[in-house]
Amino acid sequence: MYDSVKGELAQKLAAIRNEGLYKDERIIVSPQGALIRVNDGAEVLNFCANNYLGLGNDESIRKAAVDAMDKWGYGLSSVRFICGTQAPHKVLERKVAEYLGTEDAILFSSCFDANGAVFEPLLDEDCAIITDSLNHASIIDGVRLCKAKRWVFKHADMRDIEELDPDTGKTAKGLERCLKEAKDARIRMIATDGVFSMDGDIANLKGICDLAEKYNALVMVDDSHATGFVGKTGRGTWEYCGVKGRVDIITTTFGKALGGASGGVIASRKEIVEYMRQKARPYLFSNTVAPAIVGGTTRALDMLSSSTVLRDKLEANTIRFREKMTAAGFDIRPGVHPIVPVMLYDEKLAHVMADELLDEGIYVIGFSFPVVPRGKARIRVQISAAHDFDQIDKAVAAFTVVGRKLGVIK
Ligand SMILES: *Cc1c(COP(=O)(O)O)cnc(C)c1O
Repeated sequence: MYDSVKGELAQKLAAIRNEGLYKDERIIVSPQGALIRVNDGAEVLNFCANNYLGLGNDESIRKAAVDAMDKWGYGLSSVRFICGTQAPHKVLERKVAEYLGTEDAILFSSCFDANGAVFEPLLDEDCAIITDSLNHASIIDGVRLCKAKRWVFKHADMRDIEELDPDTGKTAKGLERCLKEAKDARIRMIATDGVFSMDGDIANLKGICDLAEKYNALVMVDDSHATGFVGKTGRGTWEYCGVKGRVDIITTTFGKALGGASGGVIASRKEIVEYMRQKARPYLFSNTVAPAIVGGTTRALDMLSSSTVLRDKLEANTIRFREKMTAAGFDIRPGVHPIVPVMLYDEKLAHVMADELLDEGIYVIGFSFPVVPRGKARIRVQISAAHDFDQIDKAVAAFTVVGRKLGVIK
């Protein structure tokens, strides 16, 4: 059989290459950080990691992970409910819940798993899920796994409206219209990313929670690009938007700001978490989180609970980069998030510019269709607390040199 499959895959792979969509993986030969070494030996400044707080190679987190491994072992070879729950798993769940302001929390191997887990137990055929059109792939897949009827609302559109979307050529509905249409469902749930990763825009949680109250719906927020640094004390988009206690379910990752290793969580109301422990399939049928990850993440949360120094530094770096790039003449998506999209609109230009920036020692990635809409190509810069002002300024200088050369700025 494989001969025919092989031929088919070769064709598909060639097609991916021809469309310019083939994803090459650059090999890094150093730990994650502001300065990394790529495999041709060059040291480059890294502006494309989710290492928002610079904790990816933090010494105290490394030590906490090693200590946890020494004390609790390398692995448990068990799911949680058989013999995979150690004392530190419970400690971490309590700390995550405290940090996120929820009653309880349940760990997963990843946020992808948490999102794959969260919908199916709660929502049956007679329920409704109402989801933002730009939600992360893991929310989309999680929704696919549940039997609820699905409504997709136009990204960030709160209105009671249905109209032609010029970007897609299809009709699109606002959130309030979807909620009205879903009025007969037994349970309605609105699901949204807290921060949308291509634009760095923050969900309108105030508007969403208001509508959820008006139309009696649950609210689920995936705060993977927010936990640890968005909001005054870094708790996430609910803090930033001032909706404490009004979000029913928060999912998030440990694989970004919180040390960046892996792991995810559903933080929610007591009964929802308790029910997930009984029913969530990626929890019941997948191995427990390794002790080293639990130890490292617990340490990260302890650091972030006691001080805002890192998120404050990230904020200062972000403001500096956004202001200097704007002053240099670049078209930056406005906002406050350390995801800074430098809009170029031209697909080829985005990739050429990223390559030239790498030659200047700045590692960034060009994004084009289908990751972003056609004609909206960009370089997505991600700022970190690991950067210092000098490195931020170097990046702006390199952008300016390359931008002038390629005619992006004057
Ligand atoms: C990164 C990300 C995930 C996946 O998290 P993992 O823990 O790496 O699986 C899920 N949702 C959103 C919004 C993300 O940005």
